[in-house]
Amino acid sequence: MNVLVVNAGSSSLKYQLLNTQSGEVFAKGNCERIGIDGSFIGHEEKGAGKSTLEVALPDHRTAIKHVFEILETVDAPVEGIGHRVVQGGWYFPESAVVTDETLAQVREVAPLAPLHNYAEADVIEICRDMFPELGNVIVPDTAFHYNMPERAWRYALPRDVVEKHHVRKYGAHGTSHRFIWRTVNEFMEGKAHKLVSCHLGSGASLCAIEDGHCMDTTMGLTPLDGLVMGTRCGTLDPATVFYLSRVGGYSIDEIDTMMNKQSGLLAVSGVSSDSRDVCEGADKGDENCEMALEMFSYRVGQLFAEMAASMGGVDTMAFTAGIGENSVELRQRVADKLAWLGVEIDPELNAVRSDDPRVISTPNSKITCLVVPTNEELMIALDVEALLG
Ligand code: AMP
Repeated sequence: MNVLVVNAGSSSLKYQLLNTQSGEVFAKGNCERIGIDGSFIGHEEKGAGKSTLEVALPDHRTAIKHVFEILETVDAPVEGIGHRVVQGGWYFPESAVVTDETLAQVREVAPLAPLHNYAEADVIEICRDMFPELGNVIVPDTAFHYNMPERAWRYALPRDVVEKHHVRKYGAHGTSHRFIWRTVNEFMEGKAHKLVSCHLGSGASLCAIEDGHCMDTTMGLTPLDGLVMGTRCGTLDPATVFYLSRVGGYSIDEIDTMMNKQSGLLAVSGVSSDSRDVCEGADKGDENCEMALEMFSYRVGQLFAEMAASMGGVDTMAFTAGIGENSVELRQRVADKLAWLGVEIDPELNAVRSDDPRVISTPNSKITCLVVPTNEELMIALDVEALLG
């Protein structure tokens, strides 16, 4: 089945057209600066390379129209559309076909992820209106975490507050963690039972997965929780917010921006949110960069143990996403933090570059360590096929 995977943001729209059987990607791209001056579409097509189309994109409807026009020349007609939805809230334990009801649910939970869900719901509606002959599927990033144990999702807040405002741990990166489990299970021929999936990118989260079930994850009500990330601070004492507001004089919006966009590696290093720049700085002796890397790996090590505790043990760990798949140095630093647990990675295997899943631990390592490239688009497309195919 040829599936168009759509990932809408408030001012952008990423797309990828791929085949579920072969995994072949026919075309992909990004509509950028939607609703802003200087909008364009960066498009990449198999056999034709990359191109940039400077075109007015006043709204998402225009962007989708252009995407379908561009895709007309691709020899792979779209047979279904999969929509990445950041927040499925209390409605989606799994992916779901778009209906009036499921679309309304995406909007209802949008206050939990206002920057994403409203745009995503609009794009789903537009696709349904413009191409009524095509089925649309909602693939929430939270669905994989939906059935984690109550002890993991419940916040120790008053029960009426939790119920009225749906305040709980929802997690994120669920589609990636699910893909990682599926790939690890296949690669390890069923021998992995307690996996910690380490999605380390500009956003980063860990997920404890026992025999395919999410037992806990490090992101919370929102993706701000957990690890130190590119620009997000991760977990800190919640009272920091009250303190910054009451004593620091910051507004709630300013604190939101500070914690989501001005913190993490960027803030600690003072150089960049990109781990490559931070590694380069540390190599040159910049102490702030060194501290940023130390904090990043320290937190991964700490929360790894937390994830392992949620399963009463761990036999496998998988590194994925931009940093997890590519940074030899950060994988080594994380492994060093876990030496006390018997983690030992082989520097030569760690240095191998490949697009395939691979083992990087030594035979003596108590935990099998893998690098597994993630493919959220394929996971979304497979859900579309399962529901519509
Ligand atoms: P993502 O959000 O998954 O795209 O990951 C972004 C992060 O991955 C950034 O911190 C990058 O520095 C890191 N990254 C991407 N490519 C590489 C690479 N080839 N080597 C080291 N780090 C990389």
